[in-house]
Parts: sequence; C-alpha cells; structure tokens
Amino acid sequence: MDERIKQLLKLQQKHSVLIAAEAELARFPAALASFAAQKAEAQGIFETEKAELAAMNSKRSQMRLERRALEDRRNKCKVRLAEVRKNDEYALLSSEVDRLSSQISDMEDAELQLLMDIDKKTELVGIAKSEYESRLAEISKKEAECAAIKPSLEQAVNLAKAEFEDAKSLADPAFAAAYFSLYSGGKKLPIVVPLEGGICGGCFLKNSSTTSDLIRNAASGPVFCEQCGRILYV
Ligand SMILES: [Zn+2]
Repeated sequence: MDERIKQLLKLQQKHSVLIAAEAELARFPAALASFAAQKAEAQGIFETEKAELAAMNSKRSQMRLERRALEDRRNKCKVRLAEVRKNDEYALLSSEVDRLSSQISDMEDAELQLLMDIDKKTELVGIAKSEYESRLAEISKKEAECAAIKPSLEQAVNLAKAEFEDAKSLADPAFAAAYFSLYSGGKKLPIVVPLEGGICGGCFLKNSSTTSDLIRNAASGPVFCEQCGRILYV
C-alpha cells in the first residue's frame, strides 16, 4: 500500500478517536443539566403534596371560623329567645336556632371529614418526603459519579488531540490537505476508503477502470471516488 495512504489512514483513525472523545465530553453539560432537571422534578412532586396539605389546613381554619360565627349567632338567638314574650316571635327565633344548629352540625361533620383527610394527606406528605430524599440522594450519587469521570474525559481528549496532531504532522501534505478539505466540506468519516472491485468503500458505488488504474499507477496526488469524492486506495 502507498505509504502516503498508510499515513492518511493513521491520521483518519486518530481523527475518529478524537471526534469520539470530544463528543463524549460535549455530552457532559447536558448530562449535568439532566441531573438538575431530575432533582427539580422530584422536588416538584413533594412540593405539590405539601401545598395540597397546606391548602387543606387553611380550609380547615376557615371552616372553624365560619362555624364559630354560626355558633355566636345561635347563642345570640338563644339569649333573645329567653327574653321574647310574643309567641310568633318565639317560634321564629326557635326555628332560626334549629336551622343554625342543623347548619352547625353539618359543618362539624364536614370538618371531621376534612380532619380525616388531613391525617391521610399528612401521611402521604411524609411518604413523599422520604421518597424525595431518597430520590435526591440517588440522583446526587449519579451526579457525583458523572462529575468524577469528567477529568478522565478531558484527559482522553487531550491525548487524542496530541496523537491526532502527531499523525497530521507525519501525513503527506497534499493528501492531508485533500482529507481536511473533504472533512470541512461536511464529509463524514471514513473519508479514506478502499476501492474493491471498482466499488467505493464509502458510498458503495461503482468507479470506472480509469480510477483503479490511477491508484495502481501511484498517482502523484490522492485519487477520489467518482461518485462521492472520498479518497480511495487499493
Ligand atoms: Zn464513493
């Protein structure tokens, strides 16, 4: 095999290692952001439970105030009941006392029901809290593991970069220039591919015998696939 192709294949191999290492490092900020999102989601679930409990407690206070106001009204009615002399007025007040008593009793039932619901909710909030804490610990653990990997990823990138630069400096300038021109033009690796039976190893399309002959005769510069423009070798 042409020595210049050998150098170029080595450059391509080091380049692909570098691309992979850089891609892995580039995923890092996204990984960290995903941990933050997971934490926020876990916290959100817990906060929702807490907010629901707080709303129930405040409803309970409100109901108690309303009930006490009704009790006050009933007491006043009772006081007046002891004072009235007229029968019709007595009957009116008496029915008002009954009406208030029934309203108060309904409210007491509703308060009792709410109190039981609050008990259940308090239990749920406790469960949500411990679930949140264990989820948080789990996410933080993964986050720390991920953060611990970062220096080794950076190291891998640095090493790959050094080896890539090394291979680049050893490659034939004309071949390297052709390679990087294809790469910066958007061609994905592999850019240097074998030509087997006239078929390009990159696009798998047929090339004419002229191309094969050019390669076999060790052309002065790189030989390109007629279809996809990749650099060919045999
Ligand atoms: Zn091709």
